[in-house]
Amino acid sequence: MAELIKDIIDQAKSADRTYLMEHESKAILEELGISTTGSVVARTEEEAVEIFKSLASPVALKVLSPDVVHKSDAGGVKLHLNEENDVRRAYRDIVSSFQGKLVEGISVQKMAPPGIEAIVGVANDPTFGPVLMFGLGGIFVEVLKDVSFRSIPITRSDAQEMIEEIRGYSLLKGSRGHSADIEALKDLLMRISDFVNLEPRIWEMDLNPVFLYPHGCTVVDARIILGEPRASPPAGKEKQDLHDLFYPQSIAVIGASGTPGKLGWNVFTNLVSHKFKGELYPINPRAEEIHGIKAYPRISAVPEPVDVAIILVSAGMTADVVEECCQCGVRYIVVESAGFAELGPEGKKIELQMKEIADRYGVRLLGPNCSGIINTHCSMVQSIGIVDALSQGNIGLVSQAGVCAAGMLWGLRHIMDFGIIATIGNKLDINETDIMEAVSKDENINVICMYLESVKGGRRFIDQARQITMKKPIVVLKSGRTEAGKKAVASHTASLAGNDQIYSAIFRQSGIIRARDYEHMFNLSRAISKQPLPDREGVFIITYAGSLGVIAADAIIDNGMRLSELEEPLKKRLMDLLPDYVCGMNPVDYTFSQDARIVKSTIEIGVDSNDVGSFIVILQAEILDSYVDTLKSIDYKGKPIIACVAGKEFEMPGVIKMEKAGIPVFSTPEQVADALGIMYRHYKRVKQSKKQNF
Ligand code: ADP
Ligand code: MG
Repeated sequence: MAELIKDIIDQAKSADRTYLMEHESKAILEELGISTTGSVVARTEEEAVEIFKSLASPVALKVLSPDVVHKSDAGGVKLHLNEENDVRRAYRDIVSSFQGKLVEGISVQKMAPPGIEAIVGVANDPTFGPVLMFGLGGIFVEVLKDVSFRSIPITRSDAQEMIEEIRGYSLLKGSRGHSADIEALKDLLMRISDFVNLEPRIWEMDLNPVFLYPHGCTVVDARIILGEPRASPPAGKEKQDLHDLFYPQSIAVIGASGTPGKLGWNVFTNLVSHKFKGELYPINPRAEEIHGIKAYPRISAVPEPVDVAIILVSAGMTADVVEECCQCGVRYIVVESAGFAELGPEGKKIELQMKEIADRYGVRLLGPNCSGIINTHCSMVQSIGIVDALSQGNIGLVSQAGVCAAGMLWGLRHIMDFGIIATIGNKLDINETDIMEAVSKDENINVICMYLESVKGGRRFIDQARQITMKKPIVVLKSGRTEAGKKAVASHTASLAGNDQIYSAIFRQSGIIRARDYEHMFNLSRAISKQPLPDREGVFIITYAGSLGVIAADAIIDNGMRLSELEEPLKKRLMDLLPDYVCGMNPVDYTFSQDARIVKSTIEIGVDSNDVGSFIVILQAEILDSYVDTLKSIDYKGKPIIACVAGKEFEMPGVIKMEKAGIPVFSTPEQVADALGIMYRHYKRVKQSKKQNF
């Protein structure tokens, strides 16, 4: 980094200052190649006049004081000074208003011509480190809250997305004589990102306002907040790969029990009843055998190597058991017992002991306070609650809490097929990022669905997710949205950088689909797991109820798609099919005469059309059964279909059959359109990113 920048920061630090004043901040920006209105410091009225003359332009005078945060609120900003006398008066006014305060001097600077007022800022997020903000508003920024965020460092396409994401984007593109130079703005964002990425002492930054012009942009005011050097983002553990944690050859259950009702009974029974394909070793000093399988008094007594040990003993005993497992060569440990950090400092202490032991041996540990892993592809169910029969599927679910995962399974297994369900509990060692990475490499998994309360992986989470979403969609439900972000902050940017906004930005930056709620998460994962992504925006709607067709048509527009338009020969084919009383061509409304045969013929016309990217079929609940085989038999040629069945809750046997045939069934047209819209946008994003990378 340039000497000048280093000197400015060092100087402030040695004066025990935690922030840089406007003239210092602007000097840094100029050094980075960013245009500003400049700032020359005057220490006397005569100096101010000299500077004014040398600038040969109208000027602004501003107080430079470490005591003043908002200069204009305190009467420290004088604008549009054209004459020497104006400058003298302004100088004296400022000096007299700030008597008794520490004043470094008075900044004399060029007046910038009016432009669109924007803000660019940096805040420091406890999970993701430095984040960049862009928004509209200048002095109104706190009211309008029209801002977007990305984790630093950003790419040029991140910068583009940040700009497009704000509500005022159309103003920037050009409206009523105003417009902004988007390329120059992207340059500015990139420069700030690169600078902050390399200078860990920068904690916060407010460039407010930045004036945007049709050509270029200029920074009018700047503040930089310094702090202790930020820790570099936590690197991922380069320890062993997690494949065998998901596909072990052998599992020992420490605390397995022959007594129904005990957790050790549940876990062992799940492994046995689902017919786990490897070796099982129940460990229990008081049992000869459990479910007819020879038991061992302790893990060290097992004569064969053990890949995974599941620990169910009480929290106080776990550290010793972990040590014993490590000593006898267990490769992965799953601690399902609870009673750790979630209960307080005592539990936290045991966690730290376990972590130290596992790290010392290079053994990976899942949990504690989790419900293990389910992998239907090797018939492995480690859950704490008894789990009924499961079919093999392509969804990888990562869930923080076991209870959540189990609750989901109870009903959802009828309409969704999971491949892997991993619960991560307290994330002592293995965290959501590790699991996401491991599951993404699994050929049996096509879509990843995550329920998260927090992210531990920091920037690594973003970098991993970004690569994974290019190949496999990730749907995330992040809870804790309303958690109050109470923090003492010095900059506008930090006060706007709420926890939930940052998560949303991180998910967008990584190409992750953020679900709004629990049902949304499963609707999306189900649709994506069963159907391909639409590759064009035209949607073909077939319905038996006019109203539902109209609602669907509105909803697809709301979701950024449109009704498809059949080519002339296909229109003719459709006309031949339609009974006289049917008019529209899309939605096609067959009223109550709609049946499986005519729906099939109509879909086949849509399959042949270049303008159809996806299908919405609105079906009668009472005869849903009669559609299943016919819809299943159609060759959709890679075009997705989602069924809408109003009142489907009351016709579950038919719904289950349809879902098992691979066609998702939603209850409202809005839900269907929302899912297709999200799938289509994901398709576009992936396609565009691939284009940019090659
Ligand atoms: P503060 O944010 O500390 O109150 P600013 O330096 O941002 O002080 O000044 C307040 C407002 O005055 C800015 O939002 C901008 O509209 C205007 N302003 C300040 N300096 C200039 C300048 N050099 N050229 C044009 N307008 C300016
Ligand atoms: Mg300002």
